[in-house]
Amino acid sequence: MFLTVLGRHGPYPRPGGACSGYLIEDGDTRVLLDCGSGVLSRLMEYTHPAHLDAIVISHLHFDHCSDLFVMRYALDQQDVREGEEKRQVPLYTPAEPFDTRKAITTGALFAQRTIKGGDEILIGTLHFAFTPMAHPVPTNGMRITGADGAALFYTGDTKPYPGMEKGPMGADALLADACFVNASQTGPHMNVKEACVLARNAGVKTLYLTHLWGKYDTEEEVKKEIDFSSTVVVKERGRYCI
Ligand SMILES: [Zn+2]
Ligand SMILES: [Zn+2]
Repeated sequence: MFLTVLGRHGPYPRPGGACSGYLIEDGDTRVLLDCGSGVLSRLMEYTHPAHLDAIVISHLHFDHCSDLFVMRYALDQQDVREGEEKRQVPLYTPAEPFDTRKAITTGALFAQRTIKGGDEILIGTLHFAFTPMAHPVPTNGMRITGADGAALFYTGDTKPYPGMEKGPMGADALLADACFVNASQTGPHMNVKEACVLARNAGVKTLYLTHLWGKYDTEEEVKKEIDFSSTVVVKERGRYCI
């Protein structure tokens, strides 16, 4: 399985950057995780959205879903052979906030699916198991297992909560929200130390830190706070073998 980082910022991007978006590839299966500001342009460096097997959105905050509004135009204008229908791309999101989901899914451009914590789905060769996280709107973390058994857990946005290590337990890779840098910063996100604690408690092999704060260039400060042996601060357009 390969993880390509299309955007690593939140809640808005750095100059030239993009908000949350990740392309997961396993053999011929291609799934987009989250689709924040700037992600559609990056995605189209790799594939047209009509060719995705599915799109999975952790939660409906705009830094994770805003480019779906623009993607609607790309799907509406997709090239189809004579007599063929336009392809509806399966779009998995939480049910709420209701108004945001309704605005995205109006029309027939996406095949709308609802996910909640505890659900499991198969998309091509990728198995997804969803876990509810702690954030101001319904948010799902997800354990993604490829055909060869390698597993990636993506936290979406979350603050720490008791027992949260169960979702990523024993995964090969943990892609974690590290919006807050210093240990003194707490709120609806993890700080870097908290992400490292989660990686240790879950016994993952590699921690990938993402969702860097767009207001400041925090990469060097993030690196100073790391205390987990195998940690990568992800790069946009970085491609990682899981
Ligand atoms: Zn976010
Ligand atoms: Zn959020």
